[in-house]
Amino acid sequence: MTKIHILRTGSVWIKAAQVRAKGTGLARTWNGLFDREWSPELPIFAYLIEHPEGLILVDTGETARAMQKGYFPRWHPYYHVGLRFNVKPSDEIGPQLRLAGFDAADVPTVVLTHLHTDHAGGLAYFGKARMLVSAVEFKAAQGFAGRAAGYPNHQWPKDFAPELLQLPPVGADLMAASVPLTKDGAVRVIAAPGHTRGHMAVSVDIDGIMFLIAGDVSYLEQTLLDGVPDGLGVDPAAQVKTHGLIRDMARRRPLVYLNGHDPACPQRLRERQTLQVAG
Ligand SMILES: [Zn+2]
Repeated sequence: MTKIHILRTGSVWIKAAQVRAKGTGLARTWNGLFDREWSPELPIFAYLIEHPEGLILVDTGETARAMQKGYFPRWHPYYHVGLRFNVKPSDEIGPQLRLAGFDAADVPTVVLTHLHTDHAGGLAYFGKARMLVSAVEFKAAQGFAGRAAGYPNHQWPKDFAPELLQLPPVGADLMAASVPLTKDGAVRVIAAPGHTRGHMAVSVDIDGIMFLIAGDVSYLEQTLLDGVPDGLGVDPAAQVKTHGLIRDMARRRPLVYLNGHDPACPQRLRERQTLQVAG
């Protein structure tokens, strides 16, 4: 039987206007960085799918090293004005997997929804695993331009060489462009662009319910329901379109929305609370 485990790798605080965009255009970006109001404490989640064909981890959380001076580029404003972490060594993905009864060395497949620091911070635990990243995302994260775009690629393990997925372009139905990860088709990778252009989500079918592991498609379920983009994602129009396509899916079938930072995710997973879309 397939089971999903939610793993928490510490906490993050970002600006309220990053969680939910305030304004459009340059004002949106400015507010996302310099808003005076902070978000509440947000968890940093990763998800382990226990499937009969093997374990699949979605995202690797943040590393405790992100708390140390010099981990992020000194010249980058975001890490100094827009972001605070609380990640202890025991919060990292390796110890959290152990707490759940698993060993990082036994995880054969890791899917990264995207490569931002709090999703790719635990890469070093999975040296032998097959890593899956969208080709678009991997390209965007390279070099100095990548570091400027919020990917601390100088901290990746030196041998990080993920398998690059070329997902079909998004049309009117997100699932039409999905790629199966398991032979039974119950676990699929889906293009979910907006927060980053190469952002992906993972769907898991259990008992006729779709559990959508959505990374940073939205920081909260409510902003997805409201169709409001975040404050610093690269393509807010694409993000709002992705929100609409997920709401469409939830109208057609029961869908439990699990993402990277919504504090309600553990309860939603436990109680199988489905996304309630009006209309
Ligand atoms: Zn992100």
